[in-house]
Amino acid sequence: MEREVRVRFAPSPTGPLHIGGVRTALYNYLLARKLGGKMLLRIEDTDQNRFVPGAEQYIMDSLRWCGIEIDEGIEQGGPHAPYRQSERKPMYRQYADQLINDGYAYYAFDTPEELDAMRARLTAAKVPNPQYNSITRTQMRNSLTLPETEVQQLLESNTPYVIRLKVPRKEEVRFNDLIRGWVVVHSSSIDDKVLMKSDGMPTYHLANIVDDHLMEITHVIRGEEWLPSAPLHVLLYRYLGWESTMPQFAHLPLLLKPDGTGKLSKRDGDKLGFPVFPLEFHGTDSETGQPTVSSGYRESGYLPDAFINFLAFLGWNPGTQQELFT
Ligand code: GLU
Repeated sequence: MEREVRVRFAPSPTGPLHIGGVRTALYNYLLARKLGGKMLLRIEDTDQNRFVPGAEQYIMDSLRWCGIEIDEGIEQGGPHAPYRQSERKPMYRQYADQLINDGYAYYAFDTPEELDAMRARLTAAKVPNPQYNSITRTQMRNSLTLPETEVQQLLESNTPYVIRLKVPRKEEVRFNDLIRGWVVVHSSSIDDKVLMKSDGMPTYHLANIVDDHLMEITHVIRGEEWLPSAPLHVLLYRYLGWESTMPQFAHLPLLLKPDGTGKLSKRDGDKLGFPVFPLEFHGTDSETGQPTVSSGYRESGYLPDAFINFLAFLGWNPGTQQELFT
C-alpha cells in the first residue's frame, strides 16, 4: 500500500532560523504540497547546553512570515502542540534498551580522562582519525569488555555511563539518496556513536531516528551537512527492525559563502549587505555579552513572496522562463 507522504522540518533551537534553514523547510513544504502529503515541525532540543530561549518562537514566527504552512506540531496547546524531543525522553530510553538487549548497543563507563588518554595514545601512534570504534573499544571500560557482574555493580552504584552503538567492523552500509544516488560507506569508518548521554538525554542520532519512525516520515530532506551521519542512521533503522519503512533521504547542497569556502554565515551577509534571517533577531554578542540586533528580510522591506521566490531558485530552476511562483 502507498504510504501518505510525510515530511518534517526538525530545527534545533540553538539560535535564529537562518536563510539556509528556511530553504530546507521550503523544499520539504513544496514536496509535501506537490504529493498531497503532510509537513510537521519537530523541535530537536536534546542538547541543553546549546538551547537558546526564544529560538523556538522565532522559528515558528519566521516560517509563518514566509508562508510555509506546517500541518502538525505547531499549535500551542492544540492537538498538535509542538513536538519537542526534551518532552519525549522515556521513549528514547526504551529503544536504547531494546538495542542493548538485542546486542546492538552497549554501556560505556569511560571517564573523560580515560577518553582523552585513548585519543592521546592513538594520536601518538599516528592513527589518522582517532575513534571509539570496533577496534579501540576492546581496550576500554564497557559492557563488552568488563565481566557481567562488574557491569551490574557499576549500573547499581549509579556510575555515570553512556550507551554506544556497536558498529560492525566490516560491513558495507548503502542507501539511495534522492539527490546523490547510491551512497556506499564501509562500516570501519563509522565510530561507535553515543546514543544516550550520561545525563539521560538521547543524542541527536537516536532521537531523530526514533521520531522519524514513530512520526511515519517518508522523506528526510535536510542539509548536506548530515550526509556523513546518514550511514549511521541506516544502521539504526536496521538494528531497530525498521528497515522496511526507512524514509527516503535527500541531502540538499548548502548555501555557501560567495567564495564557496564554507557555509553562508551571518557575517557573510553583514559584509555583503544582505540579511540572513527572515525576521529581526535580538541576540547577544558572544565576545562582549552586549545585546545585538540583526535586521531580517521583513525589516529590510522584502516581501515574503519575493523572498520565497528567490530562495526557491537557489539550487533549482523549473526549466522554463517562469520566474514568479505563488
Ligand atoms: N536538528 C537537526 C538540525 O538542526 C536536524 C537534522 C535533520 O533534519 O535530520 O539541523
